[in-house]
Amino acid sequence: MQAEYDSNNIFARILRGELPCFKIYEDADNIAFLDIMPQSDGHALVVPKEPAVDFFGLSEAGAAAAIRATQRVARGVREAFQPDGVVITQFNGAAAGQTVPHIHFHIVPRYADQTLRGHAREKQSMDVLRQHADRVIAALAKLPA
Ligand code: AMP
Repeated sequence: MQAEYDSNNIFARILRGELPCFKIYEDADNIAFLDIMPQSDGHALVVPKEPAVDFFGLSEAGAAAAIRATQRVARGVREAFQPDGVVITQFNGAAAGQTVPHIHFHIVPRYADQTLRGHAREKQSMDVLRQHADRVIAALAKLPA
């Protein structure tokens, strides 16, 4: 059972450059940007360029590339924010909590003294997102290739 891909979903539009994002990483197969409604500071999304609704619709090559990118971006986020832990999640289907129908991986830093903010609830200020994106970009630039 494969869900039909809607090429006008918000991440498809970001991938086409029709909508802005706080981009922190890009390679041939993925982009990563900050979640606009972060559950914690540094919450990032890795978005494969392949037009797949979810994990099941992604090719094996796309899945491998996405995991590699997720590991690299997570290293950058961890370096930039020095959280106590990092949760990596990926939701498939509305019942699992998926709200955007284009495959993506969440990188969610966890801080021991903070509870998570709600999922897709509250927009962060653009100034804060810009500063946070710059921190991750700088950390990623220092990682070995
Ligand atoms: P999911 O519920 O796993 O589909 O997650 C979608 C995520 O995308 C949520 O955490 C939202 O906060 C986030 N989101 C929605 N619109 C945007 C956007 N325009 N830019 C960045 N993140 C977004």
